[in-house]
Amino acid sequence: MTVISFQNPATGEQLGSLTEATPEQVRQTMDHARSAFKSWSTTSLAQRLHYLEQLRHYLVEHGEQFAHKISQATGKVSLEAFMTEIFVTVDTIRFYEKNAQRMLSPQVVPTSLVLWPKKSYIHYKPMGVVAVISPWNYPFQLSVIPVLSALIAGNTVVLKPSEITPSAGLMIEELFRAVPLPDGVVSVLHGGREVGQALVAARPDKIFFTGSVATGKKIMAAAAEHLIPVELELGGKDPMIVFEDAHLERAANGAVWGAFTNSGQVCMSVERLYVHERVYPEFLRLVTEKAVALRQGDPLEAEIGSMTSHQQLGIIHSHLEEALANGAKAVIGGQVSLDSMYIAPTILTDVTSDMKIMQEETFGPILPIMTFSSEEEVIRLANSSPYGLNASVWSKDKIKAQRVAEQLESGNVCINDVIISYANPNLPFGGVKQSGIGRYRGPSGLHAFTHSISVIRDPGTRKREVNWYPYTKDQELMFVGLTNFLFGKKRKWNRQTIGAIWREVKRLF
Ligand code: NAD
Repeated sequence: MTVISFQNPATGEQLGSLTEATPEQVRQTMDHARSAFKSWSTTSLAQRLHYLEQLRHYLVEHGEQFAHKISQATGKVSLEAFMTEIFVTVDTIRFYEKNAQRMLSPQVVPTSLVLWPKKSYIHYKPMGVVAVISPWNYPFQLSVIPVLSALIAGNTVVLKPSEITPSAGLMIEELFRAVPLPDGVVSVLHGGREVGQALVAARPDKIFFTGSVATGKKIMAAAAEHLIPVELELGGKDPMIVFEDAHLERAANGAVWGAFTNSGQVCMSVERLYVHERVYPEFLRLVTEKAVALRQGDPLEAEIGSMTSHQQLGIIHSHLEEALANGAKAVIGGQVSLDSMYIAPTILTDVTSDMKIMQEETFGPILPIMTFSSEEEVIRLANSSPYGLNASVWSKDKIKAQRVAEQLESGNVCINDVIISYANPNLPFGGVKQSGIGRYRGPSGLHAFTHSISVIRDPGTRKREVNWYPYTKDQELMFVGLTNFLFGKKRKWNRQTIGAIWREVKRLF
């Protein structure tokens, strides 16, 4: 049995320990979730939503305590923990309370006249047991939102939170016990990679994974063995594009928040900043002034807390060292010590597109800035990345901003703002290219956890159909004539077709 002990990364304070789930516990938990599926999937949606309402009330009542515990688990500023983990979660719950009935009700779709008198609809059917595997940077909402979305859609869930923030996993387990949901509907398995692998091997009916590209690929390969559907929410290297006509002060404030919130440990952080050369000197002055003013330290007081994962320090260190060795200049910051969980906000100039700092996900408070001279150039630069999660375009020219936004290879785009697309629960969220596969939030957030079953219904009163045996010459004439009339250039009937249709219709009864 492996015991994981955990500390507050900001203070080093020991927070506790837990025992990793064994392979046998993973199998048992999966069996338990399977048994619970039958009754949960047939529980009315209204009743399922009632559980959610209780959970929302509980979360609101205990929101500040939860935020405090998340801050202890991650080193993030407690205000950010409240805004981005608690507020976003309750807002999403409320959104689904209001909209799930409409989103999950059977959807009647048109049926063409050729198929008369049939009717068609889509039935959204729960998939079974959903495995949710989550990361450490937003350990609460990136676990709880997919779990709840899957539950609303009628699935049972097994969650494996990150081993880097185990206390957040324990907190989520307590939350589900506090409501309480029926036995087996949600289970939490604590542990690291091996527990995640065992969960995938236990053949859930869907895997919802949030984490790194490397792990996403491994999970997809393992899932392919049994053709388990996967949704992958992976990393990013998000570009921010500032045109010369942008509100520069707003853009500088946005860049500082977008790059340094949660110490840059955001999949949608501003990781590449492109500024039009004409406004670059002024923009650099503004962005530097604002970054210098940030207060870093105790997460209960400051604006920037500590890093969460020690492992991440090494990656940030290597990106920074490579950039500085190749001519990049640190306007502020520029040092990463592997002995400290605090990294000062860093702004880099003189970077080039081939540097790791502009190519790979850094996931730290580092803001590299480049200039551009034309719209065409900046679109090419922004798209020259294997990632495509979020991007932002800054300009007062609405037409230009939209034109550029639509040409970016990115799952989500913000205009004159950063990251915020995620905050609207009506919008689907997900990446393109190496940033992932699939969408959640919005209607997709429920449909992602269902099979869309196509149902077509005939009244069943005629003895045969026009396409059935026995085949006749008239059937052929009818289909050729119909094809010409319905889809051809000259939409004309001829007597031969009408005669064939008449004789074929008579054969139906
Ligand atoms: P990670 O891939 O190391 O781990 C994520 C989870 O997968 C953890 O729970 C881990 O225990 C588990 N895991 C690891 N190997 C596994 C395996 N072989 N089989 C099954 N499970 C396994 O990612 P991380 O370091 O926790 O998270 C940071 C990454 O997540 C960054 O790349 C970040 O951009 C990305 N992220 C993406 C989004 C998004 O919505 N697109 C959101 C947050 C974070």
